[in-house]
Amino acid sequence: MTEPAAKASIAAFPDGSRDAAPMRPRVAALVVAAGRGVRAGGGVPKQYRLLAGRAVLRRAVDAFLAHPEVDEVRCVIGAEDQERYRSAVGALGLADPILGGATRQESVFNGLKSLEKGMRPPPDLVLIHDAARPGAPAAMISRVIRAASEAGAAVPALAVADTLKRGRADADGALHVEETAPRDDLYAVQTPQGFRFPDILAAHREAALAGVAPATDDAGLFEAMGKTVILVPGAWEAQKLTTAEDFARAERLLAGALETRVGSGYDVHRFTAGDHVTLCGVRLAHDRGLAGHSDADVGLHALTDAILGALGDGDIGQHFPPSDPQWRGADSSAFLAHAVGLVAARGGAIRHLDVTLICEAPKIGPHREAMRRRIAEIAGVATARVSIKATTTEGLGFTGRKEGAAAQAAATLALPSADPCDDD
Ligand code: MG
Repeated sequence: MTEPAAKASIAAFPDGSRDAAPMRPRVAALVVAAGRGVRAGGGVPKQYRLLAGRAVLRRAVDAFLAHPEVDEVRCVIGAEDQERYRSAVGALGLADPILGGATRQESVFNGLKSLEKGMRPPPDLVLIHDAARPGAPAAMISRVIRAASEAGAAVPALAVADTLKRGRADADGALHVEETAPRDDLYAVQTPQGFRFPDILAAHREAALAGVAPATDDAGLFEAMGKTVILVPGAWEAQKLTTAEDFARAERLLAGALETRVGSGYDVHRFTAGDHVTLCGVRLAHDRGLAGHSDADVGLHALTDAILGALGDGDIGQHFPPSDPQWRGADSSAFLAHAVGLVAARGGAIRHLDVTLICEAPKIGPHREAMRRRIAEIAGVATARVSIKATTTEGLGFTGRKEGAAAQAAATLALPSADPCDDD
C-alpha cells in the first residue's frame, strides 16, 4: 500500500507557471444510503439506526462535511426513506437527496449522474461511501483524495490479519475446512473509494450499457474495465456496521472518545426584606427575601458556575454581567439553560448535577423533589441525574446568623476528547 505522500494535485498549473500554488481538486462525497439492511436489528435500515444518540447516516455525513478538502456532500437514499432521511440529516442543509435504484450499482450511477448535472462545474474527484460506515477518520479521507488525485482511483483497505479457511458444508450442514488460503496479499477494502469523476461516471455508463453484473464495490467495476486501483491504508474505525454486535462495539468505541469533566461552583446572597426566596428554581414562602441583581437563586448560580467550570468557560458573571440591566430580577433558569446549551454545542452531555444549599432557614427537605424536577427540566436530563442536599452551619458564621444563604455545586459532564480547548 502506498504511504501518505506529500500533497499533490491532479490539477496542473493552468497558466503554465511553476510558481503558482497547485489548484486543489473539487471533491464531492456521495454517501450511499439506499440499502435495506436490517440485520443490525431495530426494524429500520441500519444507516438510520441511532449510534450513541446520532443516526449512523448523520455520522457518515458529518465526517465529510467536517473535512476541509470535501466541497459537496450528497446522499443517495431509498424512495421509502425520505422521512427518515429528513429526520437524520434534514437540519444540515444538504442538496436534495438522490433516489437510489434496484441495486447498489444503480444507486451509485444515479448519484453520479445527478452530480454531473447538479454541480457546476462537475467535481474533479468523487468519494463513494457506504452510509453504514460512520467512522471514516479525516486522515483516511485525505489519503484517498491524495492517491485518487495521483492515480485516478484509490480505495482504503486493511491487510487481512486472520488466517483464512475455505469451508464447505456437508450433507448434515456441518462446515468442513477444505483448505487454508494464503492471506499474504489479501486486503479487506473499505470506503470511501475515490475516483476521478469522469472516469468512474464513464465506467458506470459502460457497465450499464453492457449489462455488466453488479460489482460489490465501485473499484470492482473499475478493475473489471482493466483500470488501475491503488490501495491506501484504511482504518479499523471505518468498519462497516452490519450486526447488532457491530453497533455495540461502535458504541463502546465512541464512549471511549468522551472524557469526564467535573466542575464546581459556589455562591452567596444576602437576606433582605421580603416574603419569599427562589432556590434551585423553586419559589418558597419565607419571612425574608434574598438580595441580588437577578432573582438571587444561589442554587442555580452555583450550578451554572459548576457547568461553566467543567467546560473551562469562565463564570456566570462573565456570561451575564451584573452591570447589564436585562438581568435585573431575571429568572436564573435562563443562566442554567445557557450553560446547558454550551455543553450541547460542544457535543457533550450532562452526567450528573449535585447542589448543596447552606442556610438555617427556610427548610429545604419538603421542597427537595420539586427542586430536582425543576433542575432536571431546565437541564434536559432525568431527575435521577440531579441531587439536592441541604445543611445548616450549626449557627456558625454568616449563614448561622441568618444573614444570607450559600450554595455549592458540582457538575459532571461527558465531553468529546477532541475538544476545542485542546487546540491551543
Ligand atoms: Mg449569585
